[in-house]
Amino acid sequence: MNAHFLQTPIEYLKGVGPNRADLLKKELGIYTFQDLMHLFPNRYLDRTKYYKIKQLQPTQAEVQLVGKIIHLKTVEQKRGKRLVATFVDATGKMELVWFRGHKWIRERIKINEPYVIFGKTIVFNGTFSMAHPEMESLKDHEKSLRSAMQPIYPSTEKLSNSGITNKVIGTLLENLFLESRNTFAETLSKTLLENFKLLPKNEALLNIHFPKNQELLARAQYRLKFEELFFIQLQLIRKNLIHKTKIKGYVFPKVGTYFNTFFKEHLPFQLTKAQKRVIKEIRHDLGQTSQMNRLLQGDVGSGKTIVAFMSMLIALDNGFQACLMAPTEILSVQHYNNLFELCKKLNISISLLTGSTKTSNRKEIHENLENGSLQILIGTHALLEDKVKFKNLGLAIVDEQHRFGVAQRSKLWHKNEWPPNVLIMTATPIPRTLAMSVYGDLDVSVIDELPPGRKDIKTVHRFDANRLKVFRFLKDEIAKGRQVYIVYPLIQESEALDYKDLMDGYESIVREFPMPKYQVSIVHGQMKPADKDYEMDRFVKGETQIMVATTVIEVGVNVPNASVMVIESAERFGLSQLHQLRGRVGRGAEQSYCILMTSHKLSDDARTRLETMVSTNDGFEISEVDLKLRGPGDLMGTQQSGVLNLQIADIIKDSQILKIARAAAVQTLKKDPSLSLPENKLIKLAFQQLVKYKNIWNYIS
Ligand code: ADP
Ligand code: MG
Repeated sequence: MNAHFLQTPIEYLKGVGPNRADLLKKELGIYTFQDLMHLFPNRYLDRTKYYKIKQLQPTQAEVQLVGKIIHLKTVEQKRGKRLVATFVDATGKMELVWFRGHKWIRERIKINEPYVIFGKTIVFNGTFSMAHPEMESLKDHEKSLRSAMQPIYPSTEKLSNSGITNKVIGTLLENLFLESRNTFAETLSKTLLENFKLLPKNEALLNIHFPKNQELLARAQYRLKFEELFFIQLQLIRKNLIHKTKIKGYVFPKVGTYFNTFFKEHLPFQLTKAQKRVIKEIRHDLGQTSQMNRLLQGDVGSGKTIVAFMSMLIALDNGFQACLMAPTEILSVQHYNNLFELCKKLNISISLLTGSTKTSNRKEIHENLENGSLQILIGTHALLEDKVKFKNLGLAIVDEQHRFGVAQRSKLWHKNEWPPNVLIMTATPIPRTLAMSVYGDLDVSVIDELPPGRKDIKTVHRFDANRLKVFRFLKDEIAKGRQVYIVYPLIQESEALDYKDLMDGYESIVREFPMPKYQVSIVHGQMKPADKDYEMDRFVKGETQIMVATTVIEVGVNVPNASVMVIESAERFGLSQLHQLRGRVGRGAEQSYCILMTSHKLSDDARTRLETMVSTNDGFEISEVDLKLRGPGDLMGTQQSGVLNLQIADIIKDSQILKIARAAAVQTLKKDPSLSLPENKLIKLAFQQLVKYKNIWNYIS
């Protein structure tokens, strides 16, 4: 059957009139035959098993029994009536109950005839009772070809209220299979089917909807998941390949004086193995004619900045300019201050451009950028303004921290004849499986090692009732010359309340830590930027010992002398946020601490988050837990959640299949980049169909 058939509007299917078509579209997004074919069951009820009444347990899922109805009666109750049947088998007696449709049932039920019933039982008045059972005469049951594993389809209240029950969906699918005579075109190559022992498409589709047995069902699921992931990976990898052949970038063939001098004479510490490896990967990319498009992942404090700087030096060595964009002013300033010191030693010109750069200074920067005398520009989104024109921008680095502002990448591209090479840095470790799916078209480097001598941050969970003890601990640390962060949640919906919490907290801190012995800074989102900077600056300089803040400090500040992070109402923070916040300490040589304060009321998820934080410092491990708790869509933010709307596969549960499918896609394209070999004809055809009918995920970039 050709693909055209599958694109037939759903109203043309037997059993679907205009009303049903309307509902199917609105409620389940089913517009075509194919959409229905791809409505995969959420789960299956095992109807291979028959229970005896004696075997029933008080708490049990749906069960299937064979027996006879020996008696039928109507029972009056407060509101309405119920119809009660006495159902028996050789082992005992139970009740079947109906609250609706009495007439219909009375007319049809045959007393003393064997029936197969199916449903959920409860214990009512000491007897097992099944409400609104599915039933079928034993004769019909034995004749029916319907499979023993009964699929349960996704549904909505509106659908079931309008009579489109699970059974109806099943019937529609039966009609669809009859009309198509189950001749769906194969979409994978023979090689793939053989190598991975996959069921043919026909059999897979048939068994996903009408499984003959457990084993065939499992194989059908495997085949369809594999296929779904395979085509997504195929698309991503192809995109990456096309990118590499089509999008030319500036080539930096040499590593010159800047890089070498810095490496030999000014490197402030020895690079970690991971840093060296990543720099090598970047150097390799920069030596190619295609544009670099690389994601650099590294936990907070793993030392991404130096990698960024050394990459910039390669650009400069080849006569190009470089820029580094950060998400906030504070972070831009910090990057600027750090790199300024390093640039001074190498005689490199560097400037900072943010929203608050003065007009005269701004003009000078614009000029020097255009005439090429300015080599490195650091800043916020101000770098993206049209007025900012580089003479020859060769490398753009984006420090995204944990934001996934992938959209901004493309904007940096239009500044020159060719797009600059792009390096995106992120501090939120993304589980590899997810990275494969979401960033599959980027090359990824990972710094998976912290600089030596870093002590693990000690993390503890304390209840609010122990606050005085915590304060005493803070005083001890401050007495040793350390500094302390105290962070309050600020969550949009309850902003006013949160703000009050923050101010109350601040007041109690000031009371507990009185001047002049103690100095307390406060920073929150409602302050003027100048005031924020002033307070921040005092803390950075060590003039204040305590920084009370909302999550604004989450992004990037570096105060090595700060050794304690207290997180108030920690149960309200997400895992990645907690991990980011904790990363603000542990940057110096001293033992650092993170104290998670909560009330006694904790949800199960909150408890898991706290336990995870206490038990590990490893960002990748934390991101795995986060992924399990929140699901991929939530983890990546709404922006990318659509991306992960898979029809049958599950990024988390099927990560193993994902790996295999990706490897298969890589293999296939390696051998046949344009999919033009005869053996890949089916793959190419299916791929074109997916793209044409937009059934494949559309990756933003
Ligand atoms: P992040 O990856 O979070 O941006 P940074 O680049 O800010 O991390 O580095 C964190 C701290 O670690 C900085 O103070 C930096 O100077 C230091 N650092 C980075 N690499 C090393 C290293 N190889 N050895 C020792 N210290 C390092
Ligand atoms: Mg950083």
